Formats: sequence, structure tokens, C-alpha cells
Amino acid sequence: MTTLKLYNSLTRAKEDFAPIDPTDVRMYVCGPTVYDRAHIGNARPVIIFDLLFRLLRQTYGEDAVTYVRNITDVDDKINARAAERGITIRELTEATAAGFHQDVADLGCLSPTHEPRATDYICRGADELDMIKVVERLIAGGHAYAADGHVLFDVASMPAYGKLARRSLDEMEAGARVEVASYKKGPMDFVLWKPSKEGEPAWESPWGQGRPGWHLECSAMSAALLGEVFDIHGGGIDLIFPHHENEIAQSTCCFGHDRMANVWMHNGFLQVEGEKMAKSAGNFVTIREILNDWPGDVARLAMYSAHYRQPINWTLKSLQEAERTLAGWFEAAASEADARPAPGVVEALADDLNTPKMIAEIHRLKSEGGRKALAGTLKFLGFRPEVFADWRAANAPELAISEAEIERLIDARLAARREKNFAEADRIRDEFWRRASC
Ligand code: AMP
Ligand code: ZN
Repeated sequence: MTTLKLYNSLTRAKEDFAPIDPTDVRMYVCGPTVYDRAHIGNARPVIIFDLLFRLLRQTYGEDAVTYVRNITDVDDKINARAAERGITIRELTEATAAGFHQDVADLGCLSPTHEPRATDYICRGADELDMIKVVERLIAGGHAYAADGHVLFDVASMPAYGKLARRSLDEMEAGARVEVASYKKGPMDFVLWKPSKEGEPAWESPWGQGRPGWHLECSAMSAALLGEVFDIHGGGIDLIFPHHENEIAQSTCCFGHDRMANVWMHNGFLQVEGEKMAKSAGNFVTIREILNDWPGDVARLAMYSAHYRQPINWTLKSLQEAERTLAGWFEAAASEADARPAPGVVEALADDLNTPKMIAEIHRLKSEGGRKALAGTLKFLGFRPEVFADWRAANAPELAISEAEIERLIDARLAARREKNFAEADRIRDEFWRRASC
């Protein structure tokens, strides 16, 4: 078995990956805050950790990996947006979460094993871990204090605070420019629980009606679904501080272990046409807008063109290139696929998800005529030739066959599929590719 090497943000080194329990490899990735349609930057962690999920399943077994990606459905941005649109918070979060699910399914990503919503983990049954119990334990252990309807985490109570971000508490305090609320003991103390004003969502708690701070949900949900210490924790690089640093503080102080997860992985940021994406810059692109123009597989391959830890420049050119590349691969792939991906591709991915090398390996397979291996590899990566062919038939103007002919082939292929004559459906697909690429 190829040894999987992953770069660990905690140690700043590439390390051999050794799961705590190889029969149950556990990964948690911070998911979206559902107040607006997800943008293409949000798609990066989704697509990258989907690839890691696939690789882990391939390595340890399909049923041996548990992947949790949460949905943050309690947040001040959500409250503000619902008020702005004159709808309830529930309506907003339900609709946005449904849109996100559609987006990631159309991108061709597998569903995570669990997708917990923060609001389901604030207060649960007596024997179930929830956010309120985490806060109670932190207070009992001397790591948190209640003040003025709030509960704050006392960072001075934790000597290792700042280890992930590599910042010392002294430095952080010196640099803290924000006005420090009167109820805080130290400027870096962060909110575990806060009171809700009239009209804001609120839950009963020992500290009055209120709601959790943002960081708390990931500590409670990861422990409830994966255990107090698990294998891999991921997210975008912007989450290292304060979000992940604070998750570590909460979890280690609550459960009494020296760590929350063994490996911390962070994807670099995505820029659009060389600039930071921002509504004000007019270059804000949602996943849906990309999917209106391109099949999901093209977006996914474009995302793999840069190594995940590097920044990525999202451009029209890279999408066009990905589209051409995929067309060539699908054309060269046999309709019968090897059961496993090619070893060279697995090796590239096992080297800290080296996707540029993975792409080079797939090109090599193609040029060497490994048609079944190519098909097996594309299948492992979740690329869907049918979806791509349908899109191409409907969109690519340069195709060397007429519209009417495309229609005929699609109809014939659909009919064959309806009759469960998959051999004939594949034959028609192959014919289509041969002619379309003349
Ligand atoms: P948010 O909904 O803002 O909490 O973000 C959800 C996920 O997307 C987090 O893992 C972020 O780190 C990640 N993310 C947000 N913006 C970008 C970006 N421009 N490039 C890459 N990742 C991003
Ligand atoms: Zn988180």
C-alpha cells in the first residue's frame, strides 16, 4: 500500500499518515455558513476534501472512512440577511442549504457521511454531547467564565493557545486593536455563548436565552460524530486563526487531550482572473454561475490544476483548458473500466494530494494507450462522461456534427439506456466522441 503523506499545518511538515483506527478513518471539514449562494472559492475545500475522501476510501475501504462537513445555520450574517429579505431565518437557511447541496452534487462531489447542522447540536438529550455541555465542562474546568449574559473562553488558562497559528498570546494581545468589551478578562478571550436580543434566534441555557459563538459548533459536532480526537481536520487557510485555533482550545480543554485532530489541512485561497474575489470588485462568482456555463467535471478538473496549498487563479482560460483536456480523456478511455485507478495516479495523490502530478499521470496513461486504466482512473475521480457528453452536445458550437445528428444520437442513446441496453448506449457514446472530435 502506498504510504499517504499529508502536510500538517500544525507541525508545518509533510508527514506519513497513520490513522488512529484504520477501520474507521475520521475527517472533519468546516462547511458553509448558509446565508447566500456559495461562491467558487467555497467550492475549493469541497472539491479538495472530496478528493481526499475518495483517496481514503480507496486506501482503507469504502466503509472505513467517516467524513463530516457541517452546515453553519446560526450566525449574525444569517439573521441580517433574513431580515433584509423579509423571510424567516429557517426559510433562508433551508433554501440556501438546498442550493448548496444542488451545487456540490452538480460538481460531482460525493456526499459526506454526516452533514450536521449547528442548530441541531445546541441542546440535545441528557446523554448526548451538545454545545451547552461543552460550555458547562469548560466552566467547570476553569477554562471559561460567565459574565454579563455571555460566556467567554479564558485563553490565559491554556498555555498552548496560539500553537496552530504560531502566535504567542503576548503578541496577539499587543496587536489586539479591537475595543475590548468590559466583560472580558483578556482581550483575546472569545465568545462561547452570547445573549440574544428581541427577534434574534435564542435557546435556553444556564446563562440565559442566547446563542452559541461560531467556533463552538465544530468542537461539539466533531466530538459527537467522530470522537474527542480524530484523524484529519480541514478547511480554508483563512480559518487557521481564529476559528481553528479556538476549536482546538475548546476541544482540548473540554475533553482533556493534548490534541483535537492529528492532522490539520488547509487549502489556499482562490482568486478570480488574478484578483481577490469581492462583490465590490464585480468579480464575485457563485458556483451556480459557473455551472450554468460549464459541466461540473470541468470546474472540478480546473480546481485540480493547482496544488491545494497554493493559491489558485480561477480563469476562463483554465476552464476552457480543462474542458479540452476532459474531452480528450473521455475520448481515449475505454467503455470498460479497470476496477482501480492507475497506481501512478494514486501515488501522485498520496503525495499530499499532488493534483498537478495526477493530471500529468493521466496524460501519460492516455498517451500510452492505457484505455481501461484511464477509464478506471476517471471513474475513481468521479468524472461523468454522460453528463459531459450531454453538455457538449448542447453547448459546443465547434462540433463537427450537425445539431440534428446530435439529437438523433442522444435520443438513440437514451432509448438504449431505457431498455437497459448499456452496451449499445456505450457504443453510441463512443460513436459520438469519434465524430465529435473530428
Ligand atoms: P465560509 O462560508 O466563508 O465560512 O467558508 C466556507 C469554506 O470556504 C471555508 O473552508 C473557507 O475557508 C473557504 N473559502 C472561503 N473563501 C475562499 C476562497 N476565496 N478561496 C478558497 N477557500 C475559500
Ligand atoms: Zn469549524
